[in-house]
Amino acid sequence: MDTLDRKKLVTILIPAYNEHEVIPLLYERLLKLMNEQKQYDFELLFVNDGSKDNTLELIKTLRNNDKRINYLNLSRNYGKEIAMVAGFDYLKGDCLVIIDADLQDPPELIPEMLKYWEEGYDDVYARRKTRKGESFLKKFTSWGFYRTLQSMTNIEIQKDTGDFRLLDRRCVEAIKKLRESQRYTKGLYSWIGYKKKEILYDRDARAAGKTKWNYRNLVNLSIDGITSFTTSPLRWAAIMGIFTSLAGFIYMLVIIFKTIIWGADVSGYASMMVVILFLGGIQLIFLGLIGEYLGRAFYEVKGRPLYFIDTYNEEKETNLKG
Ligand code: UDP
Ligand code: MG
Repeated sequence: MDTLDRKKLVTILIPAYNEHEVIPLLYERLLKLMNEQKQYDFELLFVNDGSKDNTLELIKTLRNNDKRINYLNLSRNYGKEIAMVAGFDYLKGDCLVIIDADLQDPPELIPEMLKYWEEGYDDVYARRKTRKGESFLKKFTSWGFYRTLQSMTNIEIQKDTGDFRLLDRRCVEAIKKLRESQRYTKGLYSWIGYKKKEILYDRDARAAGKTKWNYRNLVNLSIDGITSFTTSPLRWAAIMGIFTSLAGFIYMLVIIFKTIIWGADVSGYASMMVVILFLGGIQLIFLGLIGEYLGRAFYEVKGRPLYFIDTYNEEKETNLKG
């Protein structure tokens, strides 16, 4: 490839689900960025994740006036993680910046990311110093989740980072090879390795529109994060089993000695119930845990395509990459 007379192409990937309120604002901010960064060519790749509002129409109008915009229209709503995979498969850039449509990730940070990319970093990720417009509970649960996950795995999980990051083309190719359907992309970035650089920023509140996340999603994502990343909970189950049976064994010895030396004193219906309920509960929890892993294996083993594309730009997509 001749890189001398060609500007480097930077793809900005924007997954969008019901974002018609913010897309004009977003485009304005990105336009400013693109005008300032003349040394690069840009591709804006929108992934319309089955929006039910005017998001797609808005993107189409933008593309009519600006051919740097490409868009993928997914066949239905697949969720942000899968929408990003679709984007990864279709993007053209030498590097990629993933950004939320809602302007919570300030595009003004991208020049700094590009600077580090030029210095040779492969994965420049933005870490939140502060988060505006998010409830205490959301911040707290997210804090707790990162710490829990980190304590369970050797791979370093980046704290307080989202998907807002710049990835070199080879990171993109690496991620494309990971076709698991139960995705926890943040973990995947760590897993592929490569040279990483952290930059700090203040996370803004959403410019307009509503968040699509709720606590059910958050809990699900946390469980996905843990189960897709580590099997250490299964080991805990085994260790806990060993301890409880050890305790049971010691208690049995105590009872035998008591009966032999002082004669039997059979009592304690209540303590028996407590032990039965406690152990029964623990068994159910760990059964559920095993089921969780089994269920994931079930989904992966089906090996279904991750997504289907309705249209890529104006073209109906028949070459199903999924
Ligand atoms: N998003 C998506 N598909 C979905 C839900 C969300 O593509 O099913 C996109 C959404 O349009 C936005 C980004 O993912 O660009 C982050 O979503 P949101 O702002 O709702 O999440 P939060 O910032 O509250 O975590
Ligand atoms: Mg948001």
